[in-house]
Amino acid sequence: MADWHTHTVYSDGMGTVEDNARAAQKLGLESVAVTDHGPAALTAGMWRAETLLSVLREVQQVRGQLDIEVLAGVEANVVGTEGDIDVPPNIYDHLDLLSVGIHPSAAGAPRSSRKGLRFWDGPARRRRDRIDNTKALISCLYLHPVDLVTHPGLGVDVDTQELARAAEKRGTALEISARYASSMAGFIDVAQRTGVSFWCSSDAHEPASVGDLRDGLALARARGLAPERIRNTWAGRERRGAGE
Ligand SMILES: [Zn+2]
Ligand SMILES: [Zn+2]
Repeated sequence: MADWHTHTVYSDGMGTVEDNARAAQKLGLESVAVTDHGPAALTAGMWRAETLLSVLREVQQVRGQLDIEVLAGVEANVVGTEGDIDVPPNIYDHLDLLSVGIHPSAAGAPRSSRKGLRFWDGPARRRRDRIDNTKALISCLYLHPVDLVTHPGLGVDVDTQELARAAEKRGTALEISARYASSMAGFIDVAQRTGVSFWCSSDAHEPASVGDLRDGLALARARGLAPERIRNTWAGRERRGAGE
């Protein structure tokens, strides 16, 4: 079992890298990643992408002290509709994990996502926003080696089927967020009709929530998603081990 989406004091989390890693070890997880917000997340993010290199050094130190795999990652922001992100390749190439998400409040987030849907927006406007957001995410998957898309469609209108097809082609997993489980049902219903892989994460912002995937896994079960399609769980891991 792995939790590859946790935040630390490097962005808007409460715990240190070591706090999160110890919490994960205590739960018996095999692997945990710290994935702090990239710099475009204005109030939540780190000041500069270069800070990720400090995160990496700290992760390497903690890794040597504990009996659990600790990975250095980032939750980068999609900025613009061309698929750009707020962390350059010369930084993310050093990391173990690249996750990306659209956060409407981030600087440079796709205009369509930033405005969000307003009740007075007509159908044409809504269609255009949905196309823009979907294009931004899919372009991102082709521009960067993205491991995981975080909380797809959270607060942003996205064509889930198009995104899931592209993610399947690119070998990118889509996240079932335990933190935002109450908003994930429609996404799971549509995405599971494709062959895309899923990944369930806590999106913990405090050590006590690290590894708490319960709401995400319960929702997946309720929506009829086959357990082995969630690749970070025991069932998904066995399937991976079988050569898929
Ligand atoms: Zn996020
Ligand atoms: Zn997050």
